[in-house]
Amino acid sequence: MADYIYTMELRLTPDQLKGVGLVQDVARAAGMNLYLTGGAIRDIISGFTIRDLDFTVQGSPLKLQKDFEKAGAKITAVEEDTRTIFLALPGNARAEVSMARTEKYEKTGKPPLVMPSTIHEDLRRRDFTVNAMALSLNEGSRGLLLDPFNGVADIEAKLIRILHNYAFLEDPSRLIRATRFAARFHWPLEERTQARYDAAKEGKYIDHILKSSIGHEIGALAHEDDPLHVVKMLEKEGWLEILHDKWTSAKVDTNGITALMKTRQQMVDLGYTPDAGPAVMYFLTSHFSDKDVSDIQKLIPREDLVEAWRDIEDHAKELAKRLMGKEAATPSRTWQLLSSARPEMVLFLAVTAKQQSVEQKIKNYLTKWRQVQQKIPLPEMTELLITPQLPIYPKLAHDVFMLLLDGKLRSRTETLKFLKPFAPPPPPPPPAPRRGRAAKLAAQPTAKPGAPQPAAKGGKKGKVAAAPAPPAPAKPESKVQEKAKAAKPKAAPPKAAAKPASKSAKKPAAKKPKQKRK
Ligand code: ATP
Repeated sequence: MADYIYTMELRLTPDQLKGVGLVQDVARAAGMNLYLTGGAIRDIISGFTIRDLDFTVQGSPLKLQKDFEKAGAKITAVEEDTRTIFLALPGNARAEVSMARTEKYEKTGKPPLVMPSTIHEDLRRRDFTVNAMALSLNEGSRGLLLDPFNGVADIEAKLIRILHNYAFLEDPSRLIRATRFAARFHWPLEERTQARYDAAKEGKYIDHILKSSIGHEIGALAHEDDPLHVVKMLEKEGWLEILHDKWTSAKVDTNGITALMKTRQQMVDLGYTPDAGPAVMYFLTSHFSDKDVSDIQKLIPREDLVEAWRDIEDHAKELAKRLMGKEAATPSRTWQLLSSARPEMVLFLAVTAKQQSVEQKIKNYLTKWRQVQQKIPLPEMTELLITPQLPIYPKLAHDVFMLLLDGKLRSRTETLKFLKPFAPPPPPPPPAPRRGRAAKLAAQPTAKPGAPQPAAKGGKKGKVAAAPAPPAPAKPESKVQEKAKAAKPKAAPPKAAAKPASKSAKKPAAKKPKQKRK
């Protein structure tokens, strides 16, 4: 049997995994049954990017809002009718927690009647088989997968299949969702689903789509890995104009979005997890009027997405200004500035920077300067016993990197010269092996009371006894401390940091005695 908890732990990002723990703790403390559901399960099993975490609780999550906030999550939106709360989890993880519910559609185009239910009933109201699974996160059944519609089999067959014949009639937004998933995964609609889809299209069911669903679907575009392809497919099917009557692929800044997704991948490869959503929305609506953009923003339920999208240009301008100022006068200062900036701003500015110097600095930050890290002489540092176990190591490695970036350490020799004073004293010799009792007894009769130990073996023993586990010798230790102190100001403004090192790099021997005399 597949171990879905293991697969989940393997596939989620560290932030997402912590998010699962956070939601689990809150639900458990409230005595509510909790399941990971929908797209998250689909993506965990299929191997696609897990963009957000969908949780379902038996009971209303609305009453857990304060508990979530206390646990460190931010509530970004609340949908009262479906009892769903949207969370921004610490780090860059998003989640939604919904109440397990049934939805009864009485009239096309009217919101369904929502009733609390069990998780089993809840799975029946879902859109496609691959989205109708739940993984128990409860004590006693943790890891149990509920898959009443054979979603795993459809993932394996790579098929999008509705749960019943009325799926598109009940909720026409499923037509857009079907196209979006088919485009994203490159999975076709299953034969009967395709037939129902075609009939729904012909019958213009889409005219009955709810406004709230439009907002939800627009927001979903922000997190597509290939938004351009999805938009083109939506346009081809006639759904893009449903999302907004003026939306065509011509309104999209194609070059911008292509560059954005390329840089995003580059950053992901470097270990960053920028949320490209706001920038994607910016480029998807580049050629809209401000009024149209504002109208679209009003439809999107996730306030955090809308807010970040609204602010993106201003924040990018601010960062660009700082990158052109004193704060980024040297490569090391630029590195520090960009390292402390939000990855999403670095990403957006990398693509939109108007000033060549800003563009070049970000380019260096993401490419050229990374190679400088390889100049840190790690093998020699290990030989010098400068290893991560040393408390000063992180700062030292950082300082060396900054000096290398600024060209203040220009060769391996200079770098080692800088590093040597920080080398800790060698460890004390290992204690002599303990002699067995039998050997001691055998030795006793021959030894006269008070006589010295035998020369060969006893000599060693005598030595260790004479100098028991010596603390680090006074001289080298004070030297390390001295050097560490000298290195301290380097943590603050890099300008101050650069000076002593450059001197030590250029004329190390001549400088030291001078200071001592003073
Ligand atoms: P994505 O990867 O785009 O986030 P998702 O499957 O997680 O896809 P959401 O819109 O986040 O989609 O919805 C979460 C889950 O809620 C879905 O997986 C599905 O089970 C259910 N769902 C969402 N919209 C509908 C709908 N219109 N009809 C039925 N079920 C829906």
